[in-house]
Amino acid sequence: MNVLATPQSASSTAKPAEHFDVLIVGAGISGIGSAYHLTRQLPDKSFVILESQESFGGTWLTHKYPGIRSDSDLHTFGYRFKPWVGPPIATSDEIKSYMGEVIAENDLGKHIRYKHRIERASWSSATNLWTIEAVRTDSGEPMNFTANFLWMCQGYYRHSRGYTPQWPDMDKFKGRIVHPQLWPEDIELRDKKVVVIGSGATAATLIPAIAGKCAHVTMLQRSPTYFRVGRNAIELAETLRQLQVKEEWIHEIVRRKILFDQDAFTRRCIAEPEQVKKELISQITAVLGPDYDVEKHFTPKYRPWRQRIAFVPDADLFLGIKSGKASVVTDEIDRFTEKGILLKSGQELEADIVVTATGFDLCVLGDIAFSIDGKPLNFGDTVTYRGMMFTGVPNMVWVFGYFRASWTLRTDLVADFVCRLLAHMKEKGAKKVVPALRPEDHNMPLLSWIDPENFNPGYMMRNMNLLPKRGDKPEWQHSQDYWAEKDEIPAIDLDDAAFVYD
Ligand SMILES: Cc1cc2nc3c(=O)[nH]c(=O)nc-3n(C[C@H](O)[C@H](O)[C@H](O)COP(=O)(O)OP(=O)(O)OC[C@H]3O[C@@H](n4cnc5c(N)ncnc54)[C@H](O)[C@@H]3O)c2cc1C
Repeated sequence: MNVLATPQSASSTAKPAEHFDVLIVGAGISGIGSAYHLTRQLPDKSFVILESQESFGGTWLTHKYPGIRSDSDLHTFGYRFKPWVGPPIATSDEIKSYMGEVIAENDLGKHIRYKHRIERASWSSATNLWTIEAVRTDSGEPMNFTANFLWMCQGYYRHSRGYTPQWPDMDKFKGRIVHPQLWPEDIELRDKKVVVIGSGATAATLIPAIAGKCAHVTMLQRSPTYFRVGRNAIELAETLRQLQVKEEWIHEIVRRKILFDQDAFTRRCIAEPEQVKKELISQITAVLGPDYDVEKHFTPKYRPWRQRIAFVPDADLFLGIKSGKASVVTDEIDRFTEKGILLKSGQELEADIVVTATGFDLCVLGDIAFSIDGKPLNFGDTVTYRGMMFTGVPNMVWVFGYFRASWTLRTDLVADFVCRLLAHMKEKGAKKVVPALRPEDHNMPLLSWIDPENFNPGYMMRNMNLLPKRGDKPEWQHSQDYWAEKDEIPAIDLDDAAFVYD
């Protein structure tokens, strides 16, 4: 670490800027995984992780609602380098303790600066450096850094608040409205009527967790969602454990099996969506019985796989419904009333507590004000290079994981790419790399970041204009296809004309 002069744009009271080769934004699962790979692959690089929260975990630290757990298996959501030894669906505490072990085992703690919120990042072509202006969230002290390379692991949504649509007369409601992302510690559920608005993974997790603790919980959904039901265990892992196979091997074998099965499932979703739909819904009918109106409440209108399919371990959501402690209402909200929610059908749902499990507030690159040589950067004006880099933006990579497969599979792949790129730059003596459209790309149609026909969750659709553009060639797309990218990313030709070095 070097100490440089205070950058001109920073506050005059700020300490001199500290310099690092690489600055990682965020200590979530992506930031910690990226730091691990950097220390292993390029041990000579100096680096720091800046994290605005008081600890590591990101998503798993922010979300504290009852029952919070993963919806994908931890063999693939865990890193490729550290075996996952627990049940496949994990609680946030289990995920944090796994990440804590990665930090401790690899001595990463000394590189992390908590309570550092980055507010500005400015690139200077004169120095080929990023200047990062952060503020300490405890003292308000400005902290300045310079870095050759920015590794953006800030996730994709705003941690400080969730997305709550505005419905008429919300202010008239006498009860409490809570977003799961800001779950209050003091909330008392006993004897309370709770309505959870939403039907995604959050609702599916929260409802079984509180069903036995409140008077009744209702899942209020505008339209149904797909779920998969199964035991929270992987038979192959159990068998291999019985055979006393080493955990490292079990992790690798089970990962391969899960990924193989997921690929086959995706292909089936595309080839025979109606059959897959039937199978998914029949799992639910099997629990709820033939008299339950599965057609109305659990038969989605979209094709499976356009949105992530949440896994419901041990069918707990459906068992809660079957027991009568939880119920589902499929309707639209007309307005709030003093006592609850009036639905378009005319029914009034009484509630003491309304939980808005209505999703995220998409946040592009951590609410950081970026500029390049003094000019503000709008990511919506850039074109994405494989969902990792952006045209015109030097020395920066964004780790944006998979939606359908586990996010972290891409963290590992992107980390290998970054390390290869940094090593290549050193070899070439380059201080700067910036993605640029090649001559053959100039008339390429520019489309929205993600094809809504392929994947269309609400938080993406609401904010597509904020995200970089996509082209019609693989280089300029974020494919969301692990099976293609696991071979394509390692094979990227770093001397392709899409990379301009200086
Ligand atoms: C409840 C829930 C369950 C999920 N379950 C799964 C699952 O089972 N499988 C799956 O694949 N995905 C799941 N996801 C998606 C999940 O967000 C990602 O998989 C993954 O955890 C994202 O990790 P990340 O490190 O990239 O980002 P995050 O977890 O969002 O962490 C980013 C970190 O960066 C910090 N940060 C952001 N901006 C700044 C700034 N300006 N300055 C300093 N620090 C900053 C944040 O404080 C945060 O700690 C889930 C999401 C939620 C909300």
